[in-house]
Amino acid sequence: MTAKILSAAPVVEKFKLTQAQRCQALKGKGLTPSMCVVLVGDNPASQSYIRNKRRVCEEVGASFRLDQLPANIGRDEFLTHVERLNQDPGIHGIIVQLPVSEQLRDLDLPNLVTPAKDIDGFHGANTQNIYAGTRDLSLLLPCTPKGVIHLLNFYGYQLQGTTVAVIGRSLIVGKPLSMLLTNFDATVTLAHSQTKDIREVTRQAKIVIAAVGRARFMDRSYFDRDRRTIVIDVGMNSLNGKLTGDVDFEDVKDVVEAITPVPGGVGPMTVVTLIDNLISAVERTAKGIQ
Ligand code: NAP
Repeated sequence: MTAKILSAAPVVEKFKLTQAQRCQALKGKGLTPSMCVVLVGDNPASQSYIRNKRRVCEEVGASFRLDQLPANIGRDEFLTHVERLNQDPGIHGIIVQLPVSEQLRDLDLPNLVTPAKDIDGFHGANTQNIYAGTRDLSLLLPCTPKGVIHLLNFYGYQLQGTTVAVIGRSLIVGKPLSMLLTNFDATVTLAHSQTKDIREVTRQAKIVIAAVGRARFMDRSYFDRDRRTIVIDVGMNSLNGKLTGDVDFEDVKDVVEAITPVPGGVGPMTVVTLIDNLISAVERTAKGIQ
């Protein structure tokens, strides 16, 4: 068996076409979707993520602004800056790019951006929708979990009644994703560093989602060839200067049914979903929905 490669490229192309049309329609009403990224300091990895966001934004006709603040900015000055953006009617989506400088880390970062402009989907008012059981993907939900659902939908994988193992329980990926999958009637096991036998969990699941943050953490011993597993690799790790997933792609590719590549899988889905959230934020404002 050679695994089907679940590339993001065709999904992203489809999304970008629709997004360009939605932007055009909003522009017709005098509303150009506009995103502002707040970057504190000049972390090179952040700069690279921001470049991707800018590129997709501009490709679909949305407007992009980068507010780069000094690494040693004071807490009050930083909070005032974000609040000014919250109040600015010309900005529809705000991202506080993580990580921020040390002196800002104990601020309530997920809840600084007003929910209606929270296109990362981190604000409690937005994540609450997931815990309340929503299946509405037009809501401002966290981008990576939402992007994974879009990818699975595009490739026609049914979630209802399907066993899914999510490995990793972070607030931005594992936890919201496991709840979102549950909302779509999947039967989810959420594993983490204290799980006794991860292989037992992954070998039982039809879909395995790796969000661990360790390069090539999973080799073929994590998969049961007979189960014909679908593998979604969220990991973005640097190994010998190369972007590398949590799954050892080369080792695994002939024992699983399908697998997302890294790069070219979940990463681009996250960016295109972020733009989707931006356009949704404007559409919701235009309709008077908070
Ligand atoms: P994180 O906050 O560091 O969380 C990692 C999770 O993995 C934790 O729940 C941790 O368990 C678990 N874990 C660590 N070592 C483990 C082990 N040996 N066995 C089982 N579980 C283990 O990371 P994150 O923010 O969720 O990100 C995970 C990965 O996804 C990273 O590579 C990140 O760069 C990538 N990422 C990619 C995208 C994208 O767009 N593609 C977006 C976000 C993140 P404990 O909770 O017990 O510590």
